[in-house]
Order: sequence, then structure tokens, then C-alpha cells
Amino acid sequence: MAGPWAAETRYGGAVDIKRAADLYAQGRTLRQIGAELGVPYRVAEHPRRPRTTRRGSGDVATLTHVRQAAAHGTLARWNNGCRCTLCRRAHSDTQRAWGRARAQQRLPVEMRQQLLDAIYSGRPFRMVLRDLGLTSNQVWGLTKTDQEWSEKLNTALMAMRPDDLRHGTNAAYVHGCVCSDCREHQRIRMAKNR
Ligand SMILES: [Zn+2]
Ligand SMILES: [Zn+2]
Repeated sequence: MAGPWAAETRYGGAVDIKRAADLYAQGRTLRQIGAELGVPYRVAEHPRRPRTTRRGSGDVATLTHVRQAAAHGTLARWNNGCRCTLCRRAHSDTQRAWGRARAQQRLPVEMRQQLLDAIYSGRPFRMVLRDLGLTSNQVWGLTKTDQEWSEKLNTALMAMRPDDLRHGTNAAYVHGCVCSDCREHQRIRMAKNR
């Protein structure tokens, strides 16, 4: 019974899928599309289509079916419910990449006190980061989720900020000050330029 539509879709082809999509966009029902393409719609269903498509009308199944034209081994296809070897790999690769990115973004606990100590020693913030091999994203990123860290860092920066600068100005920021006044000024300046 397998017509060209079914044969193509099982292996990720897109020719008849595209035609089906066009017909679907024109408002045809699944049965009409099936008839037009000479394929009974039961045959055209993807053997691994996601559970959710089993509910609801045949039209929903068609729409999902059309969306499944994304190639195997892509996250799009995985998100559509395919669990073939290629799609599993695409998913796990992505998960790993995210995990690595998150780990790099984290500020290690043992680094936090070193960072504070270095700030209190009076070294400029940029030099402190360079010395400890930290990115500013690591340092500031944590302030968004860790209130205690945010306060400790702020206290250190405020305590050690130079007296001879007018804080909350671009000049002070360019000079390297990252006290909350200077950061706030910079944040507003960047927002304006956007
Ligand atoms: Zn797949
Ligand atoms: Zn400042």
C-alpha cells in the first residue's frame, strides 16, 4: 500500500511532504490530501510520530507530519519526537555543550574568597580578573542568582573604590571602576545606545 508519500517521509524526503504542506495550507483535510497524492493517510503516518499527535484530529497529525520534514540528527527533529540514533545523538551533543557552557560560566566557590581578598588588597578589578583567570561574566553572572555573593562583592567594590573619581560617570567606568554606581551608569548608557 505504501505510496510515494509514505516511502519518502519514512526516510526524511521532502518532495511530497512539501506538496502535502501546500495542500494543508490551502485548507484541505488529511483525507483529501491523501486522496490527491494517492496515499491513504494511515499509510502516510510516521511510525515514530510523537504521542501527542495521536490525540486530536487527523489534521493535527498532518501538520506534525509536515513539520517532521526536519532532517534526522537535528534538534528540531528530536523536539518533534523522533528518537532515532541520529536524533538522540543530536540531543545528547546539545546537552553536553550546554553543560560545558554552564560549567565555564560558574564561579568556583574557592575562587570567590580569593577574588574578594584580591579586591580588598587594592588591586584594580580588571587585573584581579586577569590574575585569577576569571571572566567578568563568571563574576557578575553569579550576582544574579546568589544574593549573598552579590552583597559581598558589592561591599568589597564600594569599600575599595577610589575616592578621587566621580562615580557614576563614564570617566570612572573607563578608568576601570565597577562599583555599583559606575555599573549602573554604564548599564543605562548601553541601553540608550541599543
Ligand atoms: Zn530521527
Ligand atoms: Zn565607581
